[in-house]
Amino acid sequence: MSTTLGYDVFIAEPIPQNVTDLVPNGDRRMFSPLSVTLIHGVNDAVLVDPPLTVEQTAAVGDWIAASGRNLTHIIVTHGHGDHWFGAPTLAERFGATVVATVGTIEQMHRNVAMRGAFWDALFPGQIPASPVTAVTAPGDRIDLEGHELAIVDVGHTDTDDTSIVHVPDLGLVVAGDVLYNGVHQYLREAAGGGLDAWRNAIEVVAALRPRSAVSGHKNKTLDDDANRIIADTRRYLDTADELLTQEHDAHAFFWAMLQRFPDHLNPGALWSGALALYA
Ligand SMILES: [Zn+2]
Repeated sequence: MSTTLGYDVFIAEPIPQNVTDLVPNGDRRMFSPLSVTLIHGVNDAVLVDPPLTVEQTAAVGDWIAASGRNLTHIIVTHGHGDHWFGAPTLAERFGATVVATVGTIEQMHRNVAMRGAFWDALFPGQIPASPVTAVTAPGDRIDLEGHELAIVDVGHTDTDDTSIVHVPDLGLVVAGDVLYNGVHQYLREAAGGGLDAWRNAIEVVAALRPRSAVSGHKNKTLDDDANRIIADTRRYLDTADELLTQEHDAHAFFWAMLQRFPDHLNPGALWSGALALYA
């Protein structure tokens, strides 16, 4: 007889980037909120996507400790540093193993290589030491008190070699950046068929028929209803495709997307993508 599972989400609030130029709507350049998920049984727990900075990582560590569970594994869904630079610190604090797919581990190395030029430039002195200690799990599966957690490779979404964590016994997908929930999507790496690849990845998630989905970036006032989040993420990509053919520069694209998604958080993320797509 296996035990009952549950999950909780910690939201790391948006933090300012070390950038002086403003978003065209006047916003300061901010980083999107980060979702950190703890899947827990009676005694043990598995963390998905630790945060970015020393301060966020310490807060997540205290949150895990307060859960009273023994942390066995930390799963990283994709290589972007905002979803794992805190992993080595937490792995050491709790004696947990960091796990990712082969492709994600490659991307983690790539993000370490670009730390100085990108991540540390945006957040100087704020990011902990980030050696890549991740290993693959046999069959990309982890056992949590008799329940299977499957790491499913879904390819390119908002970056290359991304994955999601499927927890069949909870009807849950922890989606990393494959799904977004009320936050502007990161289109900076979308050129050259990226949006089609991303849509294919969403199909893989939809075929799992999850009830709940935790997005790597979510508006904390929204729920985890998988059907709504899947539809919203698709609609954002479809709208971007439509407007990319209609709008002739980054500013026009930015304002047209803002009009279609007035309630999404962090227009700065949209602006960053617009600049790259019209470069
Ligand atoms: Zn992200």
